[in-house]
Amino acid sequence: CGIFGVYSNDEDCNAAALTYLGLYALQHRGQESAGMVVSDGTHVSVHKNMGLVSNVFNRDILDGLRGRIGIGHVRYSTTGSSLLANAQPLLARCSKGMLAVAHNGNLVNTEDLRKELENGGSVFQTSTDTEVIMNLVARHSRENLADAILKAAQSLKGSYSLVIMSKDALIGLRDPYGVRPMCLGKLADAYILASESCAFSSIGARFIRDIQPGELVMIDRDGLRSYHLPPAPSQAICIFEYIYFARPDSNIDGLNVHMARKAMGRELAKLFQHEADVVIPVPDTGLSTAIGFAEASGIPYDIGLIKNTYVGRTFIQPNQALRDMGVRIKLNPVESVLQGKRVVIIDDTIVRGTTSGKIIHLLREAGAKEVHMCVSAPPITHPCYYGIDTSVRKELIASSHSVEEIRRFIGADSLNYLSLEALYRAVEPKEGLCVACFNGNYPITIPQEESRDKFL
Ligand code: 5GP
Ligand code: SF4
Repeated sequence: CGIFGVYSNDEDCNAAALTYLGLYALQHRGQESAGMVVSDGTHVSVHKNMGLVSNVFNRDILDGLRGRIGIGHVRYSTTGSSLLANAQPLLARCSKGMLAVAHNGNLVNTEDLRKELENGGSVFQTSTDTEVIMNLVARHSRENLADAILKAAQSLKGSYSLVIMSKDALIGLRDPYGVRPMCLGKLADAYILASESCAFSSIGARFIRDIQPGELVMIDRDGLRSYHLPPAPSQAICIFEYIYFARPDSNIDGLNVHMARKAMGRELAKLFQHEADVVIPVPDTGLSTAIGFAEASGIPYDIGLIKNTYVGRTFIQPNQALRDMGVRIKLNPVESVLQGKRVVIIDDTIVRGTTSGKIIHLLREAGAKEVHMCVSAPPITHPCYYGIDTSVRKELIASSHSVEEIRRFIGADSLNYLSLEALYRAVEPKEGLCVACFNGNYPITIPQEESRDKFL
């Protein structure tokens, strides 16, 4: 998911317009639903719906959302189904007055917390962990808002980057492991919080710094104050943000995503043993990696696949026949680049292997003589519990198949994965990264029943 927040003391600040543009820049982090809550200091209004930011909001809706404080969310579901009731931000009246919450991440103890809260009389309207967070905060009715959130956070296990707002304050909180990103920016007197720094560029805001793992920032009339949760044993920033999830122009915890991907491409080139005529990316995430690969290998870079950017995900869903056509609707080969060529194709990951198989088939149909697949991550052998949909274990092709078996399944002439060591070299000198989907070393303990469900 993507989250965004804005706080200004200036009555003329149009928080809805800024949030709209911020969410628009974060659209790649979730396409299922979009929403925002704004406040003018007294009145709070909300709008959310299923679909892309540009479909959910229009000028009339934005004009009706008045205020100088706002938070927004684009959703990609991990816990809770893809339903309007689960769209965020969540807004409720509680002991703290009006409170709105938007969450990026995934809690691993949602069920336990929900049971505990239900036993205490709480009633739930959604199946998201965000509502659990809201209830936990509301329980601390005697504390001020920052203390209530800090106390509630101590019961949370898993990954969470949160933007929270009351009618007159904006709060940002990042879990002590720092799994999901969040950064702070400024636009004139307004403070901005966002999942990724690309949201700042799109509204002309200045990047100030990353929110630290375990840090809570409270922004209100008195300015910005910072508090800290007890530190985690280590940091565990999701390496997948660099490999696939984040936008290349974003800087996450001091490392630019495009640069990291280029370095992954250079590392991949060192491992590649074959002769080839052209290297092409799977757009869009493969672009930076393929440039790095071409630089280091001397194999010319070209565009062999064109992506139709205007295909919304929802459009491809209606039935199996259309789903099978999915790849063709989205990606088309450039025959004159591929005809008779030995092609290296660069992608970021193989999850189930079905998309990769279809892409390789497309390239061969377009005349490629050989297709060598290079993947800028090690095989994904373990599911993610912290907010990336790498699915249940049985669906991860690398959890039960060797590299050679996967090569045959996808129909490539060779299949080359980046090793974990080479991946680490590419993101050097970053430390404190989560790489659990490649080696099963989960930094945050997974409850038994949760792992049983996922491993079935
Ligand atoms: P596959 O070949 O496994 O069907 O699809 C691989 C494609 O899915 C890659 O192009 C990659 O960009 C994309 N992908 C990467 N990470 C994820 C993820 O976490 N979830 C899903 N559903 N797709 C992903
Ligand atoms: Fe990221 Fe993988 Fe860790 Fe999930 S398990 S947080 S996808 S590195």
